[in-house]
Amino acid sequence: MLSDEQKKKLTEYLGECWHKWEPASNGNYKCVHCSYVTFRDFYPSQRTFTTDADFLALCRKAVEKDEWAEFWEFAERKELCSGIVTYNEFAVWLFLDNPERACCLAAMWLEEQE
Ligand SMILES: [Zn+2]
Repeated sequence: MLSDEQKKKLTEYLGECWHKWEPASNGNYKCVHCSYVTFRDFYPSQRTFTTDADFLALCRKAVEKDEWAEFWEFAERKELCSGIVTYNEFAVWLFLDNPERACCLAAMWLEEQE
């Protein structure tokens, strides 16, 4: 389960806004960072980092930033104790088994870089 702090970090890694709402006119809310305006009770949701799409977005960003090999190596190190032996098993474990865990790995990887 990712903490809000981890989700914020991943959101910012993607170059997206971790919205912070303040009341605006007509009952709307406005993000203090990016000025996005939304209706009361209809906040656009932040990424949950529980979906394949969220994990793949992180993968694409890591490739774009030329950090993919680092992440892959980190993920391989993290799954060592899980009993996975082959490269194929590792790829299935990382991409198909549990996107939230995969996003969590990405968050841990970012934390390790600090
Ligand atoms: Zn925002």
